Amino acid sequence: MSSLLLNKKSDVRNQIGIWKKSNLKIGLVPTMGALHAGHASLIKKAKETCDKVVVSVFVNPIQFGPNEDYNKYPRTLENDKKLCDESGVDIVFAPTPNEMYGENKKLKDTDLTFVCPPYKLVDCLCGKSRVGHFDGVATVVFKLFNIVTPDYAFFGQKDAQQLFILKQAVKDLDLNVEIVACPIIREEDGLAMSSRNTYLSKEERMEALTISKALREIQKTYVGGIDDAKILFDVAVATISKNVEIEYIEFRNFDTFDKIEKISENTLVAIAVRVGKTRLIDNIILG
Ligand code: AMP
Repeated sequence: MSSLLLNKKSDVRNQIGIWKKSNLKIGLVPTMGALHAGHASLIKKAKETCDKVVVSVFVNPIQFGPNEDYNKYPRTLENDKKLCDESGVDIVFAPTPNEMYGENKKLKDTDLTFVCPPYKLVDCLCGKSRVGHFDGVATVVFKLFNIVTPDYAFFGQKDAQQLFILKQAVKDLDLNVEIVACPIIREEDGLAMSSRNTYLSKEERMEALTISKALREIQKTYVGGIDDAKILFDVAVATISKNVEIEYIEFRNFDTFDKIEKISENTLVAIAVRVGKTRLIDNIILG
């Protein structure tokens, strides 16, 4: 089946309007493209849950900081379209920044209305080094919600902080969409799939493997009876390659997002690192 490739918001709205008249359930999978098996798992879940599935492919300029990889981020629309065709996606929505935000907008907070999630949730973990990132994410996702008006939207646990923030923002602003969380898909050797893995050299990829290894070591130690976050932190540091620069290793209650010292039910263990110039994240839920 060939999916419909649309670039204009109005074309998406028209098609969705037709489907809504027939009471069809709409699912949205927001992505930045360079699709891999992680994205495909979200699409599969969307297909199981909904009558029609929209995948957005948009490298969102307002969620990148000035020194980040916006320009170099992989753009592979032809392959993405193929994956969507093969996965039974109904619409691939691939707008330009001008289509999304309006011609010649400066895309700064002085020139654009933003959705700003609570400071407590954005000024930590990835938001500490990526200032403004989650405002950019929440803004583009809410715009996509308004364009596509999905019944369900699918997000990966891989971006755990993003998932938590979007769930809270949807609740706080009474949006009529159900956020569905999907598990992390990994390469056979444990590396969490990411569009940014293509930046890694062979050697860097080997170093990057120690991140998922550290998470597995934490899990093993926890199952062995250790629930002290400080000890588990040390286990992770000892496992991660010395050539990998650790940005954070944190333990948070995934119901409240509070930092914790003892592992309890639903504990998020989140890691961010730099391998060479590439920033990678991974996480696991314990308890
Ligand atoms: P991105 O294209 O990186 O913005 O990701 C789009 C969506 O795919 C987000 O909800 C991610 O959390 C999700 N995703 C990315 N990588 C994975 C993965 N390895 N497993 C599951 N979901 C993923």
